Order: sequence, then structure tokens, then C-alpha cells
Amino acid sequence: HQAAVLTIDGPGGAGKGTISRLIAERLGWHLLDSGALYRLTAHAAGKHGVELDDEPALARLAESLDVRFLAENGVARVVLEGEDVSMAIRTEVAGERASQVAALPTVRQALLARQRDFRQTPGLVADGRDMGTVVFPDAPLKIFLTASTEERARRRFLQLQEAGENASLPSLLKEIQARDARDMQRAVAPLKPADDAVELDTTELSIPDVVDHIQRLLADKG
Ligand code: C5P
Repeated sequence: HQAAVLTIDGPGGAGKGTISRLIAERLGWHLLDSGALYRLTAHAAGKHGVELDDEPALARLAESLDVRFLAENGVARVVLEGEDVSMAIRTEVAGERASQVAALPTVRQALLARQRDFRQTPGLVADGRDMGTVVFPDAPLKIFLTASTEERARRRFLQLQEAGENASLPSLLKEIQARDARDMQRAVAPLKPADDAVELDTTELSIPDVVDHIQRLLADKG
């Protein structure tokens, strides 16, 4: 008997990260931030001098990632090979590099089992691009979150400002468009809604609105 799973996919800046975390907290379920695994693979590559076009070496790194996801006083921390990389993997450059390694089929394959291991009782909220299409195709409820490109750039801008990072709205807009294009056009596990996904445009919705809406859908599946 498999534990319950709720998949939340969509492009960057649609609110997946925040919404997934809030729903997991409310339900007391586990959380999989699958994007972090691609970010970590790219980070490990930088650390070990592996080029982003060396697919066999990148797949080996992905396969053997020594990572721990910790929660300390309610703050999520990501520790790679004993080093806290929570901040380092969140930058725009790290996201861009993650999207490059994520286009490689053997890297995706290497991360598959690790992602499925997160599915444990009482349940899992899985956040990513291909959670509903590839990793958990049997999930009873699949959400595809979107928002206009301008709104997503604005949200990223505010997030980066809050984190004390320099950001420019026009360049964020361009980066988001480039990353979306790569994620949607890649041959393996492209970003697209599963056939049975519920699409939710969050452009005009507040975070609590989206959380409530998804919880109601989940209750209906009951
Ligand atoms: O969601 P996040 O911005 O952390 O993801 C970083 C990159 O990792 C995405 O742009 C995408 O290329 C890749 N990714 C993916 N499949 C996932 C999650 C993330 O390809 N399930």
C-alpha cells in the first residue's frame, strides 16, 4: 500500500515552493522539493570541477549526492557533503545551472528513485516540473500552478530583495522566459501539465487562497 501523494508542478515563480510547504505543514505530510536535487547536482558539479556538458560524470554525481534536508527551529536547511548550501543553491545562477543539468536524461534517471523514496506515510507533497507526469504518475491529485510571466518575475524580485540579493526586474523577466523555454522544450520530462492535472492560475490569487483551494480539492478526493 502506497502512501498518499499530492503533486504540485509548474514554472518557476508560480508559488509552488511556498504553497507546497504550507500544505505539507498543515497536513503534517513530508515535502519533496525536487528542484533542490537538480540545484544540488549542479552545485556539486561546480565544487568537483565537473563541466555541465559532461553527462556521465553529472549522472554519477546525481546518483551519489550526499545530501541531508534538515529542519532546525522551523528553518529548512540543505547540507551537501557536510556543508550548508541552503543559500548557495537558491541564486538565479544556481537555478539556471540546475535547468541545464535537468535537461540530461541520465541525470533525471539517476534522481528518480531518490525522489520516490520521499513517498512515506502519512503522505507527501511533491513540488517540481514532472511530479505528476513522470515521478508520481499515479498521484490521486495533481495540481499545475501557473501565473503570468510578469507576475512570476515580480514575485522572484520580491523574494530576492527579501533575501538581501541584488535583482533587476527586466533581467529576471528575461531569465524566467529563458528557463521556461528550456524546461518546456527539453526532450525528457518537459514542463507540461499531466492530462489529469487541475490547472490553477495564481496571478490574481493570494497564497492563503491557493492553499485553501488545493485543500478543498484534496478533501473532495477524500
Ligand atoms: O523549482 P526550481 O527553480 O528549484 O528548479 C530548478 C530547475 O530544476 C528548473 O528550472 C528545472 O529545469 C529543474 N527541475 C526539473 N524537474 C523538477 C524540478 C526542477 O527539471 N521536478
